[in-house]
Amino acid sequence: MRRPGWFRIPSRPGRRLVAVFAVFVLLPGVVLGVFALKALRQETLLAQTQVRQRLQSVADQTGRDVARDFRQWQEALVSIVRQKSADTGSLPETVRQAVGSPGFGVVVRLDEQSLNALPPGQLLYIPPSVSIPNIPPRPLPASIAPIEIVELVEKDYLRASRLYKDLLHSSDAESRPLILHRLARTYRKAGRLNDAVRTFRELEHSASTGTGQLPLDLVAGSELCSIAAEQGNTDELAVSLMAFYRDLTGGKWLLEEPRYAYYADRCQSWSRESPVTADEFRRLQAIEIEKLALTRAVEEFLTKPSAVLRVGSRTHLAFWQNDPLAAIVLSESFLESRWWPRVFSIGEEQDLAAALRSSDGRQALGFFPENAPPFAVMSTIQVGESQWHLQVWPRDPDVLYSDLKQKQDLYMGMLIFIVAFLGFGSYITARTVRRELEIGRMRADFVSTVSHEFRSPLTGIRQLGEMLVYGRVRDEGKRHQYYGMIVRESERLGRLVENVLDFSRMEEGRKEYRFVPLDTTAWLRGVVEDFQSESAGDGVSITASIPEALPQVSADGEALRCAVRNLLDNAVKYSPDTKTVWLDACAKNGRVTISVRDHGVGISEQDRKHIFDKFYRVDGPISQKVKGAGLGLSLVQHIVAAHGGTVECASREGEGSAFSIRLPATPPAAGG
Ligand code: ADP
Repeated sequence: MRRPGWFRIPSRPGRRLVAVFAVFVLLPGVVLGVFALKALRQETLLAQTQVRQRLQSVADQTGRDVARDFRQWQEALVSIVRQKSADTGSLPETVRQAVGSPGFGVVVRLDEQSLNALPPGQLLYIPPSVSIPNIPPRPLPASIAPIEIVELVEKDYLRASRLYKDLLHSSDAESRPLILHRLARTYRKAGRLNDAVRTFRELEHSASTGTGQLPLDLVAGSELCSIAAEQGNTDELAVSLMAFYRDLTGGKWLLEEPRYAYYADRCQSWSRESPVTADEFRRLQAIEIEKLALTRAVEEFLTKPSAVLRVGSRTHLAFWQNDPLAAIVLSESFLESRWWPRVFSIGEEQDLAAALRSSDGRQALGFFPENAPPFAVMSTIQVGESQWHLQVWPRDPDVLYSDLKQKQDLYMGMLIFIVAFLGFGSYITARTVRRELEIGRMRADFVSTVSHEFRSPLTGIRQLGEMLVYGRVRDEGKRHQYYGMIVRESERLGRLVENVLDFSRMEEGRKEYRFVPLDTTAWLRGVVEDFQSESAGDGVSITASIPEALPQVSADGEALRCAVRNLLDNAVKYSPDTKTVWLDACAKNGRVTISVRDHGVGISEQDRKHIFDKFYRVDGPISQKVKGAGLGLSLVQHIVAAHGGTVECASREGEGSAFSIRLPATPPAAGG
C-alpha cells in the first residue's frame, strides 16, 4: 500500500544531496578550474617565449645593421684621411649622405694643429684647442697710413673720407676692400650714414678677406645692421639682419668662439628690434642650435677623443682614428631622425624601444634603462676593437601578446563563471537541503502529534465504552452524558481524520471541489448551529452576527464549512480564559467576508508570517497544552484560495485574533 505523500519521512536527504552535489558538480568544477589555470599558465609561458624569440631576432638583425654602418663609417674615415686634400665631393657616398644636412655631421681632421672640416660651414666656430688658420695680415698700402692719421689722430673725417675716396680710384683689386672698409668707417664717423651704408654694401659683396682674423664682409654685414638699428630703420634692419644671420649660421666665417658668440648675440637682440620673417629666422635659429651642438661635440672630441660625445643632453657619435687625429662626428639629430629609423624600422613597426651603449657604459642612443624592462633582450655588436650593447624591449608588453590576453580573459571569464555557478549551486543546494530537513523535521513532529491526537480521543472512547459495556455506570444521567462524550470524541476524531485526508489530497493535487451556488446566510447559520451544538457540552458559546440575505457565493459547501470550522476550533483552542468566540459576516464591494474573532492569546507579528505554512505551530506554552498538527490554517488557506478568495489574520498578542475569509460574491442573476 502506497503511503500518502505527506507521510513519507525523508531519509537524510541533506547528506545525500550534498554528496551528489560534491561528486557531480563541485569536483568536476574544481578539476575544470585547475585545468583552466594550468592551460593558462602554459599558454602564457609559450607566448612569452615566442615574444622573446621575436624580440631577439629584431635585436640581432638591428645589431647586424648597426655593425655594418659603423664599419662603413670607420672604413670611410680611413679612406678620407688617406686622400690628403679632400673636398666634400670626394667624400664616400655613405658619409656624404650623413653629413649633408646642416648640423647633422662633420668630418674633421687635425693637420699640424690646424683643423680641416668637411663639409665647410658645419662648424660655427673654431674650437679653442685648435689654432686659428694663420693668415698673415695683408700688408697695407703705404698710402693708407697718412690718411689714417687724418682719420684717427686728427679726427678730420670729411677730409679723411675724401682722401680715402681718391685712393680708392687708384687702388688695385686686392687693397680695395681695405680702403672701402676705412672709407665706410670714416663716413660713419662723419655722420654720413647713407654714404656709409652704400660703401659697406659694396664692401659686403667684395671678397671675404680680413685684417687679422676678422673678415671684412662680416664687419660690413654687422655694421649695416648696426647703422639700420641706430637709424631706427627697422625694415632695413630686418633685411640686413637676415642676410648677416644666414651667413653667420651658414658657417661662412670660421671665428673664434667669443667672437662668434658676440655676433650671434647681436643677431638675437637685433631680431627683437626688427620685423624679421619669423619662420625664416626660426629656421636659421634651429640650424644654429644643431651646428652649435655639433661644434661643441667636435670641441669635446678634440679635447678627449672618444666614440660617444655628450654635449648637454645630446649625444654624438664619433668614428675616429689617431695619426692624424680624424673623425666623422654624427649628431644625435641625424642619428635619431635619419639613421636609426632606417636601421630599426622593424622595431618601430612593432612598437619596440631600443637603446645603444658603448662597452664603457656610455649611452649612445636612446636611454638604457637601469633595470631591464620586461621582455628586454640584448645583442652585442662588435666593430673592430670596440664593442656595443643594444637592448630592445617592447614599449607596451601587453600589445605584444594581445591574442594571449584575449585567451586569458576568456579563461578567466570561464573560471569566474564556473566559480559563480558553483557558488550559486551551493547556495541553492544548501537552501534546498535546509528546507528539506526542516520539512522532514516538521513531518516527524507531525506524525508524533497526529498519533497523539488520535490516541487521546481513542483512549477516551475506549474507556467510556468499556465502562458502559461492563455496566459500571448505573446512573442513567451519567450514562447519557458518556454517550454524548463518546459521540463528540468520535466526531473530533472524524474531523481530524478528515483534515489529514484533505491535506493529503491537497498535497497530491487530488482534492476536487464541487462548486454550487450557495445560499450564504443559510449555510453559515447552519455551520454556526452545528458548531454551537457540538461544543455546547464544553461550555463554549458562539456569538454570531449574520445578516439576512447575504449574496450567494459559488462554493463547495463542505470544503468551506471545513475552513470555517477550523477557524472556530482555533478560536476556541487558543482562548484558554474565554469561552466565547465571535463570528461576523457582511457583504461589501462584491465580496462576502466571514470573520472569526476571539479574545485569546493572540499571535505575534513574527509568527503571523508563518501560521499559514504547513506543519507550522507557534512555539510557546499554549501550543504545548493545546493539541494540533499545524495543518488547520494551511487547509483554510488552500480551500479559500480554491474559491478565489483570501484569508487574513489580524491579531494582538494577549488580546486576541481575528481571521477573515473574503470570497467573491456571485453576481445576482439578471432580472432576479
Ligand atoms: P494547529 O493544529 O496547531 O492549531 P493551525 O494551522 O490551525 O495548527 O494553526 C497554526 C498555529 O497558529 C497554531 O499552532 C497557533 O499557534 C496559531 N493560531 C491559529 N489560530 C489562532 C488563534 N485564533 N489564536 C491564537 N493563535 C492561533
